[in-house]
Amino acid sequence: MSNIEYADLSKKYINGLGEEIEDINPATGEVLAKIKTMLIEDVMEIISKAVASYSKWSSMPPPIRGRILYKAGEIMEQEKNYLAILMTKEEGKTYNDSVFEVIRSYETLKFYGAMAFKYGGQVIPSNDFNTRILTYRIPLGTVGLITPWNFPLSIPVWKAAPALAMGNTVILKPASKTPLMAAAFLDILRRAGLPENVLSLVVGPGSTVGEVIVKSENISAISFTGSLDIGKGIYKKIGEKNRFTRLQLELGGKNALYVDESADLTLAVNLAIKGAFGLTGQSCTATSRLIVHKNVYEKIKNGLLEGLKNWKVGNGLEKGIDMGPVVDQLQLKTDLEYIESGINEGAKLLIGGSLIKNEKSNLFLQPTVFEFVSPDMKIFKEEIFGPVLSLTEANSVEEAISLINSVKYGHTSAIVAKDNTIINKFVTEVETGVIKINKPTVGLELQAPFGTLKSSGANTWKEMGEEALEFYSTEKTIYQGW
Ligand code: NDP
Repeated sequence: MSNIEYADLSKKYINGLGEEIEDINPATGEVLAKIKTMLIEDVMEIISKAVASYSKWSSMPPPIRGRILYKAGEIMEQEKNYLAILMTKEEGKTYNDSVFEVIRSYETLKFYGAMAFKYGGQVIPSNDFNTRILTYRIPLGTVGLITPWNFPLSIPVWKAAPALAMGNTVILKPASKTPLMAAAFLDILRRAGLPENVLSLVVGPGSTVGEVIVKSENISAISFTGSLDIGKGIYKKIGEKNRFTRLQLELGGKNALYVDESADLTLAVNLAIKGAFGLTGQSCTATSRLIVHKNVYEKIKNGLLEGLKNWKVGNGLEKGIDMGPVVDQLQLKTDLEYIESGINEGAKLLIGGSLIKNEKSNLFLQPTVFEFVSPDMKIFKEEIFGPVLSLTEANSVEEAISLINSVKYGHTSAIVAKDNTIINKFVTEVETGVIKINKPTVGLELQAPFGTLKSSGANTWKEMGEEALEFYSTEKTIYQGW
């Protein structure tokens, strides 16, 4: 199947009666699809159908559900290259990054497909004779998944696969910038045997379509990944509902990489560049603050400048490109405003800061590095979500930890060091949900639990790993005597 046919699929799965939006390739300006968004009534009807399908889907033996997920993983694997091309066209990331995301997505489908054979409950010894205690897992009902554009396939998959494995029916609301990847995912599920209305797409503005899901009394749980402000709004609206809706929020970050004086400096420079500018800095795990021990500061700074000399920005489908475009004009405006604020607040622009001339698109931004960034500056504290890195010097690991912890976010941090005492101190004291040692801030593995601290999330249930299955299910406890 070609990516052109995938674009046609949008008509099959996204056929609302609302406004038409254009799905645009940020590297070329090409219109990939014109999509009719959904009205509030469309969404309500889709939710009703998902609720009606719950009884049949949830009563299926879990291994049957698991086989469908596993098969979807196999189909996705076969269609890896087409999907990766479509992803690069729709979101802008490089082809290699798209391939990586597709691989991770089909492995996730296979992982939860297999988990459906196994994950069901436990046997607990009783205090009494002739008694045992059993727990068994049951699904929650119809769940709503609201996802961002930056991982347009893997985030919908890492939420939907455990939800379906446990027997929930699913309403998926993808970001309006990347509906085609979601349509491709649904199509694969359907070809793998997923019955109609077990997973349905709703497409349209978050402020209307997303809000219907959040406010619906028929939705038993919501898993949301996106920005802090929208996450806060959802939290509040759930509190105002007549019934409790289980809520998982994964939000923004202001991730830091600390380079200790004991570090392998070549590794540190490579990890900083990959973490800050890979995926155009548009990742919740992106490195946006580089905190460097004073004794190695100059060497790291020079290494960065040297490394970025050969950094290639362009259309992610072309060979040798390291970084694609910014996703759209709105995000570009945010990036440029933060660059301006860095300059106005007294940071020194070391490299970048401007647009790169390109005939087809004005969304190519130079990788940008500031130095002398202090903790009171906006570029130090606030999430930018673009290819902008702040450099700050620290006198000690203690100071680095305090700088890292000084922001409201608690997503991901990393340390490059060889000294184990320093590494242990860092791991113990840093306030982030994910901590990497001699690894880039970017990159998470599907089999490990993932969750953030502080304002980067609701700190309720974890995503990914076996733990994700807990969010999408609850337990009954049975005391069995004889
Ligand atoms: P947004 O918060 O703008 O949007 C996320 C999703 O929410 C979209 O589907 C959006 O729809 C929808 N939405 C918007 N308004 C509402 C509303 N009022 N009610 C319900 N849903 C709504 O985030 P972005 O898509 O711009 O993604 C970037 C953000 O996501 C960054 O902050 C990034 O850090 C974070 N992120 C966090 C991750 C994590 O695991 N912690 C992983 C990846 C990204 P629409 O597109 O129509 O506006």
